[in-house]
Amino acid sequence: MFTEYDILFITMDLQRIYKKASGLIPLTVEEGVELYMHAPVEELMYVANILRQLHNPGNITGWMIDRNVNITNVCFSQCSFCNFCRKKGSEDAYITSVENYIKKIDELFSLGGDQLLLQGGMNPELGLAFYIDLFRTLKKLYPTLKLHALGPPEVVFLAGKEGLSYCDVLKLLIEAGLDSLPGAGAEILSDRVRRIVSPAKATADEWLDVMKEAHKLNLPTSATMMYGHIETIQERVEHLIKLRDLQYQKPAESYGFITFIPWPFQDEGTALLKKQGIRSSYNGPDYIRIIAISRIILNNIKNIQASILTVGRDIGMLSLHSGANDLGSIMIEENVVSSAGATYRFNAQEMQSIIKEAGFVPGRRNQKYEFINPPSGI
Ligand code: SF4
Repeated sequence: MFTEYDILFITMDLQRIYKKASGLIPLTVEEGVELYMHAPVEELMYVANILRQLHNPGNITGWMIDRNVNITNVCFSQCSFCNFCRKKGSEDAYITSVENYIKKIDELFSLGGDQLLLQGGMNPELGLAFYIDLFRTLKKLYPTLKLHALGPPEVVFLAGKEGLSYCDVLKLLIEAGLDSLPGAGAEILSDRVRRIVSPAKATADEWLDVMKEAHKLNLPTSATMMYGHIETIQERVEHLIKLRDLQYQKPAESYGFITFIPWPFQDEGTALLKKQGIRSSYNGPDYIRIIAISRIILNNIKNIQASILTVGRDIGMLSLHSGANDLGSIMIEENVVSSAGATYRFNAQEMQSIIKEAGFVPGRRNQKYEFINPPSGI
C-alpha cells in the first residue's frame, strides 16, 4: 500500500523521467521500470505521442504489402513457443520448391507487393550454399524482388556450420541478393529467458553481435520483441535498452534498426503452455503500455510498428495514438505466429480504412520505410 508521501514522490519522479525522455536523453533501466510499473497509461501515451511527432512529424501511418514464405519447416531449435517447426524426417516436413516460390511471387506481384519475408526454420541440412543459390535464383527470376530474409539466429547457425565469421556470412548473403535482415529470433534478449524458451538458439549477445555486423555493412535491419511469457518487466525494459545501446554504436550513415516491432506470445498449442502451463499474459492495455514505453525508451529508432496481425484492429488503432507510426504489412501469408493462434487478417483496403478510422493518412511504404507515391499528410 502506498502512503501519500510515496504517491507524491512517484509523481515527481515520473515528471522528471518524462522531461528527460522528451529531450531524447537516454533513460536508465531503473527509470524504464519506474515508468512501466507506475506511470498512468494516458500519461505514457501523451509523452509517446510527442516523441512520435518528433521522429515522424505529420499524420501519416505506414503500411505495406509483402508475403511471408517459409523456406522449410524443419528446425533443430524446437523453441517451446513455436508450433510451426518439425523434426527432420517428420511426415509433413518440407523445403519450399522453386516452383512454389514462383507461384507465390507471381501472386505477390499481382497484388502490388514486391517483397518476400523469407524465414526459417533452421534446417541442419541446409548450408550457406543453399541460401546463396536460392537468393540468386529468385533474384534472377524477379530482378525487382526484395528479399527481407533470415535473421540473426540463422546467421549464427550458418557461421558455425561453415566456419565463417558473421560478417562473411552476411557479405555472401548480400552478394546473393539479401536486401534487409529481419529482427527475428530476438524474443527477449535475456539468456535466463532464452535458456528456457529457446535454448538451442542464438544467445542474446550473439543476436546483438550479428546485428552489429549487419549495421557495419549498412544492411537495413529491424528489431523485435516477443513478450508475455516468462520474462519479467525488468527484462522487457533491459531488452529495449540493449537495442537502443546497439543502435548508438552503428556507423553514422548506416540504416541500423529501421524499426521496432513488439508482439505478444501466442500460446495456443505450444509446448510452453502444454508442458509448463505458461499462458500468454497479453492484454490490450499492456500492449499500449509497451508501445508507448518502446517509443519513449528507443530514442534513436525512428519507427515503431504495432503488430496488428497479432493484436487486431482496435488495439492496432489505439497504438497509433500511443507512439506507433506504422501498422506493418497485410502479410499475404504467415505461418509461424498464426500456427500458435494469431488469426487477424486484413486486405489492403481494410488496412487503409483502419488507419483512416484512427484519424491518420495511410502511406504505403517499402521495407526501408520509404513511402511509395508519398501521401500528403504532413
Ligand atoms: S521459432 Fe523459429 S527458430 Fe524457433 S523452432 Fe520455430 S522456426 Fe525454429
